[in-house]
Amino acid sequence: MSPYGQIPDAIRQQVCQRANSLCEYCHASEQWQYVRFTMDHVIPLSRGGSNTFENLALACFHCNRRKSDKITGIDPASGDEVSLFNPRQDIWNEHFIWSMDGLRIIGLTATGRATVATLDLNRVWVMNIRVADQTVGRHPPPNDLIQKMGNAPESDA
Ligand SMILES: [Zn+2]
Repeated sequence: MSPYGQIPDAIRQQVCQRANSLCEYCHASEQWQYVRFTMDHVIPLSRGGSNTFENLALACFHCNRRKSDKITGIDPASGDEVSLFNPRQDIWNEHFIWSMDGLRIIGLTATGRATVATLDLNRVWVMNIRVADQTVGRHPPPNDLIQKMGNAPESDA
């Protein structure tokens, strides 16, 4: 499986730019990685999604593999099957927030929680990268929200 497939390089560059080089799910930055991120089909090809700019998202290899051909996941708080985060329709800061220490992604909504669980956004190795990146000021991404003392939602996945 080639991560780039039939997607022209020009489109890939536009997708990267739109994403500010962040995996659109776990917000790891492609800038600091040794391997290039992949093109995720938000609506999988197997479900009728297309290879177009409007259906593509920048995703790290792990998020892309965990998402696979899924578009829904289970919200651990309710047990309900809900839509996964859709980077073309949804706003990251409305569904996720960084824990106060900046290391864990916390789902704020059913979609956020289901996405954290399904894509395993707080997997151990990525937490280690976040720790290392944080010490050199590369993490969390500047536009992301971080929990503050006092208004921290308790929900977590
Ligand atoms: Zn990712």
